[in-house]
Amino acid sequence: MARYIFVTGGVVSSLGKGLSSASLAYLLKSQGYKVRIRKMDPYLNVDPGTMSPFQHGEVFVTDDGAETDLDLGHYERFTNISSKQSDNITTGKIYSDVIKMERQGGYLGKTVQVIPHITDRIKKFISKDISNEDFVICEIGGTVGDIESLPFLEAIRQFSNDHGRSRSLFVHLTLVPFMKSSDEIKTKPTQHSVKELRSIGIQPDIVICRSEQHIPLEQRKKISLFCNVDIENVIETVDVKTIYEAPISFYNQKLDKQVLKYFKIKSKKKPNLNPWKNITSTVLKNNKEINIGIIGKYVNLKDAYKSLDEALTHGGIANNVKVNLVRIESDKLKKNEVSKKLKSVSGILIPGGFGKRGTEGKIAAIKFAREKKIPFFGICFGMQMAIIEFARNKLNIKNASSTEFDKKCFPVIGLIHEWNRNGKVFKGTEKNLGGTMRLGLYTAKLKNNSAIKKIYKSNEIKERHRHRYEVNNNQRSKFEKKGLIFSGMSPDNKLPEIIELKNHPWFIGVQFHPEFKSRPLSPHPLFKSFIKASKNYHGK
Ligand code: GLN
Repeated sequence: MARYIFVTGGVVSSLGKGLSSASLAYLLKSQGYKVRIRKMDPYLNVDPGTMSPFQHGEVFVTDDGAETDLDLGHYERFTNISSKQSDNITTGKIYSDVIKMERQGGYLGKTVQVIPHITDRIKKFISKDISNEDFVICEIGGTVGDIESLPFLEAIRQFSNDHGRSRSLFVHLTLVPFMKSSDEIKTKPTQHSVKELRSIGIQPDIVICRSEQHIPLEQRKKISLFCNVDIENVIETVDVKTIYEAPISFYNQKLDKQVLKYFKIKSKKKPNLNPWKNITSTVLKNNKEINIGIIGKYVNLKDAYKSLDEALTHGGIANNVKVNLVRIESDKLKKNEVSKKLKSVSGILIPGGFGKRGTEGKIAAIKFAREKKIPFFGICFGMQMAIIEFARNKLNIKNASSTEFDKKCFPVIGLIHEWNRNGKVFKGTEKNLGGTMRLGLYTAKLKNNSAIKKIYKSNEIKERHRHRYEVNNNQRSKFEKKGLIFSGMSPDNKLPEIIELKNHPWFIGVQFHPEFKSRPLSPHPLFKSFIKASKNYHGK
């Protein structure tokens, strides 16, 4: 029977609940247990798919096509367990399900209320789709004290009553600040946060204290006393130099040991921390450094390209090189400044994106990469921009563009006509924007003798997608005659999935998002190869 671990956060946001949950999941998994991690988000959007990355950071896409919170990316990267549609829920989704049911007459005669109808729905989500898992870790988004997260906290309180305390554990993550002026570590914010949690009926079993420095025993005792938590269950998490150290740090702090002790079970085997030790030392070593230019619209927000940044770092780990990300705002990149602004980079990457703003800067950067033979990697929107650049400058179609932002153009990129998923046909639409893109895992066939086939060492690949527009396949022969090869196609040969340039050291565009499948312990082949090519780039 599954045991449930609920992770809440207090005092401030961005304390690293996702990373803590992911590290705990790794530690439990590597001791022989089957683990699942899920996230509950208190906002009203049905999913983050319609939110700007400025609001919510990256939208992470699962194999089964869910647009989810970026914490699910952390979970996958640390545990290598693929998340599912059923692993992320929002207030919006809960309410829309309940209201739909009400309209169908599902509650006939009853007044529909937050308690019990919304909380029941949340409880159903928590245990949905769980079979032989030993542990289900549920992270609750937001901070204790927010109005929005109340129904979730009430639901987990009820859940632990329903299933018994022996099957549910509450972990609360708080901040323990250091006051420079008085040279003191302060426990009061933690006390208040736990008090808030207790006022809604939740007594945490473990308190994880995020701190800039080691928390002395005296302060830990204080937290233990005031928060009513066993001293051994006051776990400190001191800022780590790289996130790959997190599982090691939590192991040293005995987080996994205390969790197993709580549930009165034993470790099946010693967790293997060597892979994390190895990559931590590689990352912290003074390796050769290379600069990769990322030209995008959301470069000023740290989390907007989370998986991409991680995947590039993984590529660096595989090549023993430190990858510096040089973020360049696409709409500030003027044509005549490209060579100056990109002077120091050994590779150029255009990530996924939406809308017209900044496209001309991206196109100018691609032209520069193509002509100067600098390694170029175009992801999703980046591949579409590479097609536009080539059409304009090599095929001489001056008004070539995408119907996404120019309805009167020569459409080298247009709305996807239709696609097939598990035997069902879907059609592209610009009307209902929520959840209607071509989402999730799709197969691509790779062309013989192509660069891409050498990189993947396979005839067929499966990668995650998130797009509404596609490369116009009718123009294929024109592109290929001039050296831009469509080297990956959907199995029915209708959707271009990969493009590559002949006579260029490394120029590849992909319609999918390989960054979602890269893992620190198994870097993605495309990122590995791109960083290798960039490391070998001696031009300029
Ligand atoms: N806006 C483009 C499309 O919808 C690309 C999307 C993306 O980069 N994820 O097709």
